[in-house]
Amino acid sequence: DRTPASRCVRTTCPYCGTGCGIDARLPADLDSRAVATIEGDRLHPTNSGSLCSKGSHLGETLSTRGRLLRPELDGQPCHWEQALDAAAERLGAIIETHGPDAVAFYCSGQLLTEDYYVANKLMKGFIGSANIDTNSRLCMSSAVVGHKRAFGSDSVPACYLDLELADLVVLTGSNAAWCHPILFQRIRAAKQAHPGKRLVVIDPRRTASCDDADLHLPIKPGTDALLFNGLLNWLAEQQAIDPDYIARHTEQFDSALAAARSSAPDIATVAAACELEVAAVEHFFRWFAETPKTLTAFSQGVNQSSAGSDKVNAIINVHLATGRVGRPGASPFSLTGQPNAMGGREVGGLANQLAAHMNLEDPRHRALVAQFWGSERVPEQAGLKAVELFEAIEAGRVKAVWVMATNPVDSLPDADRVRAALERCELVILSDCMDRTDTAASAHIRFPATAWGERDGTVTNAERCISRQRPLQPSAGESRPDWWIICQLARRLGFGAAFDYQAPWQIFREHAALSVLDNRPDVLPRGFNLGPLAHINSTSYEALAPIQWPVSMEAPAGSARRFDDGRFDTDNGRARFVPIQPRPPHYRCDHAYPLVLNTGRVRDQWHTMTRTGLSPSLSGHRPEPEVSLHPDDAARYGLRPREIARLRSRWGRLLARVALSDQMRPGELFVPMHWNDQFAREGRVGALVNPATDPLSGQPESKHTPVAIEAL
Ligand code: SF4
Repeated sequence: DRTPASRCVRTTCPYCGTGCGIDARLPADLDSRAVATIEGDRLHPTNSGSLCSKGSHLGETLSTRGRLLRPELDGQPCHWEQALDAAAERLGAIIETHGPDAVAFYCSGQLLTEDYYVANKLMKGFIGSANIDTNSRLCMSSAVVGHKRAFGSDSVPACYLDLELADLVVLTGSNAAWCHPILFQRIRAAKQAHPGKRLVVIDPRRTASCDDADLHLPIKPGTDALLFNGLLNWLAEQQAIDPDYIARHTEQFDSALAAARSSAPDIATVAAACELEVAAVEHFFRWFAETPKTLTAFSQGVNQSSAGSDKVNAIINVHLATGRVGRPGASPFSLTGQPNAMGGREVGGLANQLAAHMNLEDPRHRALVAQFWGSERVPEQAGLKAVELFEAIEAGRVKAVWVMATNPVDSLPDADRVRAALERCELVILSDCMDRTDTAASAHIRFPATAWGERDGTVTNAERCISRQRPLQPSAGESRPDWWIICQLARRLGFGAAFDYQAPWQIFREHAALSVLDNRPDVLPRGFNLGPLAHINSTSYEALAPIQWPVSMEAPAGSARRFDDGRFDTDNGRARFVPIQPRPPHYRCDHAYPLVLNTGRVRDQWHTMTRTGLSPSLSGHRPEPEVSLHPDDAARYGLRPREIARLRSRWGRLLARVALSDQMRPGELFVPMHWNDQFAREGRVGALVNPATDPLSGQPESKHTPVAIEAL
């Protein structure tokens, strides 16, 4: 409706880490909950007016259907005061009796930066524990470790424009065509405009991203680090590295090269270990060597591994060796999964981080944050990472958990054990916008949170671009913003003075002020900086245009790239090569569980479908959980197309409809991550997935679980 009586709200899509801008058109009546017309924001730098299927159908998810509309206490609707008082009283009693480490927050990359900031401040600054982690642990924590080891800070060097400027794009562990569709469309359009541009896809499956690829490497799962070690060694042998860049801007090259040489001495060895054609590996290596503008984009296929951090550094190593970091069209590039995984990282939403990209283990950083917050309790030890947090709940060491905007009974690995742990937990508080989720059944206290379309704050996408989410309509029922709920709890716990915010812009301003470098250059990490935004007010926050951090007096309009001058965020300014010894996946296949299960997204669903499941249009693409497998495997296990199969692992089981696909490698299965008990009986793939994690990042190995399959 474009009549004069309509209004347009500029906001940001709540789904993937691409972070597309949206124009929502609504009737002029601010109290209306009428369905909005959703269009891409033509002025947003990310998507220039385009949207994928998920973003386009957001209008179908805006009703109050399925929403949690009132607070609940012990299964009964109640008033806000009752729910908040009870939560504070029970949480306070557990802290008093068992200490601050007996409680935990489990947050989400769906939260806005302002929500995340106050949650982290309450837990780390005032309750006095670092037990705050997030479902972003399942998404990009291996990339965080890789960035910090190599660059000295968790900084993504590239920007989206580099996907277009690159002459060679390498997509590894990423089905961007379905998982970051607008970014993939940008690659495709650039390829059409520049026919010499090449795309290489490294993925065990032949995904939709391969439709545009010049080369697909159907790699054996778990061998990515060996492939990139082989590339590093081969580049050195071919004298295709940049010795001057290595000498001036890096350290530890020799040890990284020695590790690469010992594990991947030649192309034949690499091809055999990765189960690839020798000629295909050679093609890839030659293209990489001869193309200065090469960008390697990686996502969950790399990160979700018990060796995910090493895989990330194996990728970064080849970019450092060729001097291709932070240059136009040339960088390693982590494609973040969630809409605000990056914003969570900025405010310390991980159990081993502090706010403003400061380090929990650094006493100078702890002192600075404590002084800034007026707190005496910033903990010295890192808290529990996601998987170990729920193990601690199971063991009774953590007696209270507040789950915010996520559904761990579906999304965590070994999900039946997670459900059992929550059911025996003394206190489970849940803030969610949706009523019926698989986690809701375990909650003692439920807070109705506002949803996309009602929320007001900021998110940061995969290229460090901060964008506003703006409300289109009034809050549904009695729902409230997450930051408001957290501040109400903080006041009741006795910390009111530090949580006296009236609006999200005040929280954002404090967050930006904490990042300012010029007051303490000796202790603050270089890199993350929102300096000029520390003076933001209500009006300028409302008008805030998308901007990429770092933002500084020298770069008031933000920074597209990082490290383009060859200076990194380490103490001596040099990037670090990391020697990589490739490791296989933690759990191997055997006679009982002979197949490898891979999980991931489908094109038209998001996470556990609490929102996208509301859209009939989106559900048409894949109406039920399917297990994709090679026809040879179907024949071997006596499975017919479209029948229901049962999958079993050591951890749980699942029902799914059989879909034959010669795009799969024999011996491997793929099941989407989305379905759950609300949409399909025994449809939670998390119940099957093994709980092995990367020892450094804590990220689960969701791409490699040994399983068995049989007809139902
Ligand atoms: Fe939303 Fe991602 Fe699609 Fe953009 S690409 S519209 S951010 S789901």
